[in-house]
Amino acid sequence: MISEQVPLSSLTTLRLGGPAEYLAECTSTDALVQVIRLLDQHEVPLLLIAGGSNLVIGDDGFKGVVVRIATGGISVSDSVVRADAGAEWDAVVAAAVAAGVGGLECLSGIPGSAGATPVQNVGAYGVEVGSLLRRVHLLDRLTGETRWVEPGALGLGYRTSVLKHSDHAVVLEIELDVRADGLSAPLGYRELSAALGAEQGERRPTAQVRDHVLALRRGKGMVLDPADPDTWSAGSFFTNPVVPEDRLPGVLEAIDSRVGPGVRIPQYPADGGTKLSAAWLIERAGFAKGFPGPDAPASLSTKHTLALTNRGSATTADLVALARQIRDRVEEVFGVRLHPEPVTVGCAI
Ligand SMILES: Cc1cc2nc3c(=O)[nH]c(=O)nc-3n(C[C@H](O)[C@H](O)[C@H](O)COP(=O)(O)OP(=O)(O)OC[C@H]3O[C@@H](n4cnc5c(N)ncnc54)[C@H](O)[C@@H]3O)c2cc1C
Repeated sequence: MISEQVPLSSLTTLRLGGPAEYLAECTSTDALVQVIRLLDQHEVPLLLIAGGSNLVIGDDGFKGVVVRIATGGISVSDSVVRADAGAEWDAVVAAAVAAGVGGLECLSGIPGSAGATPVQNVGAYGVEVGSLLRRVHLLDRLTGETRWVEPGALGLGYRTSVLKHSDHAVVLEIELDVRADGLSAPLGYRELSAALGAEQGERRPTAQVRDHVLALRRGKGMVLDPADPDTWSAGSFFTNPVVPEDRLPGVLEAIDSRVGPGVRIPQYPADGGTKLSAAWLIERAGFAKGFPGPDAPASLSTKHTLALTNRGSATTADLVALARQIRDRVEEVFGVRLHPEPVTVGCAI
């Protein structure tokens, strides 16, 4: 189905974005492949959108064709979960839990589509989708061919992959490895194991873990709720910065002089250095939850410092201004540059 001049604010969880010149909705994988091949042959500007939960789109919208991936098939066996790219991710997790297979439950409540999960290697509560992927069915936009690839070919990293910020491939389907014993993946996130009264590394029934994950996420405004503007966001707006080892002492000194010695910022070993908590840095740089206040069109969530939200009347320019203010102040105070997690289209932070 093709429509004209569709406000993209109606397709993004931030409720932001000007009009799409054209919107093509594809409800089957065949249609999706054919539409993209045709547009690419004619070199028509194309933007892929699925759940719109990791996109910041400019107020001028998109000139060209926005292709909305609206496929939805899901199947579950004892060892494999398969989903079309457009299937709602949380419905995939719910179907796995209902079928009594384990592995996906820590990723409960993440908005958006199954096909976008490899794009930024979605993760939560100690699990990343990359550790579960069996294979991914791709349309290669350079050749027009489709093929299944193994996760090792996707360059999966912390909130990134070769698919992010690239127009070269479209995820058509994914397959995930699951376990038939109905138990969760080993619990690797302290807040979750504490909520479950479990030890780190323990495995619990998947439904129990899913319930606790959803409850924890709701408390942080991280489950979409049409009635709650704290969830009108793109989730975490900044990735946790990874500071190279040679720069870490200077950053820790800046932290000490700001907050006083003895207060320790959470630190985690990461590829290329030490990962620090972006939320912690934002708070200690002077931005409280809800900043700049209840009358602002765009503000931090009142439940989570890392989520930038539209309170209902914001423009993308308002959100971008807030993001820049936070990024610049954190850099000024601590010498650490924060980078946005969502994909920006027609705007830049
Ligand atoms: C309240 C909230 C909480 C969140 N919590 C988390 C979290 O805990 N962990 C986490 O990792 N993320 C989280 N996110 C971010 C977001 O939900 C994920 O990144 C999600 O996978 C995006 O899926 P989507 O279908 O909405 O993608 P979209 O926003 O529609 O697209 C995102 C990008 O992927 C591209 N894309 C989409 N589908 C495909 C495809 N099939 N093939 C190729 N490219 C594609 C788009 O072109 C775009 O560049 C959260 C977001 C919100 C709003």
